[in-house]
Amino acid sequence: MNQALLAKTGWRLLQREQGIWAQVFNAKYRRHCDILAAKDLQFHSNSNVWRGILYVAQVLSTSIKWRVGSGDDILFWTDRWLSCGPLQQFALIDLSEDMLQLNGSANWKWNFIWKHHVPPKVKTFLWVLCHKKLLTNAQRLMRKLTNAAVCPRCDCPLESSAHLYKDCTATLAIWNRLGFGRVESGQLMNDYDDWLLHNLKLKRFVIHGLPWYLVFAIFLWFIWKWRCKVVFYHNFLLPAEPHLLIYQCVLEWFSACNLMVILPERNVVHLHWMAPLLGVCKINIDGSRINSPDYIGVGGLLRDFCGS
Ligand SMILES: [Zn+2]
Repeated sequence: MNQALLAKTGWRLLQREQGIWAQVFNAKYRRHCDILAAKDLQFHSNSNVWRGILYVAQVLSTSIKWRVGSGDDILFWTDRWLSCGPLQQFALIDLSEDMLQLNGSANWKWNFIWKHHVPPKVKTFLWVLCHKKLLTNAQRLMRKLTNAAVCPRCDCPLESSAHLYKDCTATLAIWNRLGFGRVESGQLMNDYDDWLLHNLKLKRFVIHGLPWYLVFAIFLWFIWKWRCKVVFYHNFLLPAEPHLLIYQCVLEWFSACNLMVILPERNVVHLHWMAPLLGVCKINIDGSRINSPDYIGVGGLLRDFCGS
């Protein structure tokens, strides 16, 4: 039988025709068989006509489309109820390496946060931040909670987390006071995730033997706290010495957790005056000045070889 005739027969069955021929097919073959979903395996145990109908139904299924109606009969993923084809073919994507790691979660790399020795509120904050859930204006715009994503502190058009921490001039002004070298907007590591990961995992001790990851984590937390105060308290003024507040918080947490590092014993070199040669006098001088050139002081001490 030619394909057009078989396709038309299949189509009439799908249209639930009630002729005797249709009743025979329905009773004999269709009780456990969906014509459009038939697979090759079902072909062999059926009559030639029915196998022919199933065969052309595969062609038919690529050319017909469901009208949604109540939706009861439609297979959401595999039926063609959209003009572009089955939804399934758009939902299946290649998984990236990250997505294939640890239970398919792309966020496995942030699990270390829970083991970090940082205050619990900072831990929770970091988890939210690293999973891109921080409600910056860019996030709020994406969730239709606002109409503008402008940075409230520097008027940059898009306040994303990356902007908030790496490029916002208000943040960099504080960063530059932490004492780890001056940076300008756009100078920090390019990839925001890599930058966060690198700094949160960096095993390095800084001033007073404090671990850098702790200073960095609390810096992130304070920046967000102050940013929110700027948004919600219109008369909020940033502390005059924000970096000192950050260090104070870090030191308090660090000493409370008894995490202070025992620094290696220092090799102390005692400096003392050394007498000149016999018959020679030595003069030692020192000077200082404050910013105004009007206040400069200098003094000296002349001593002979006996120190007199
Ligand atoms: Zn900004």
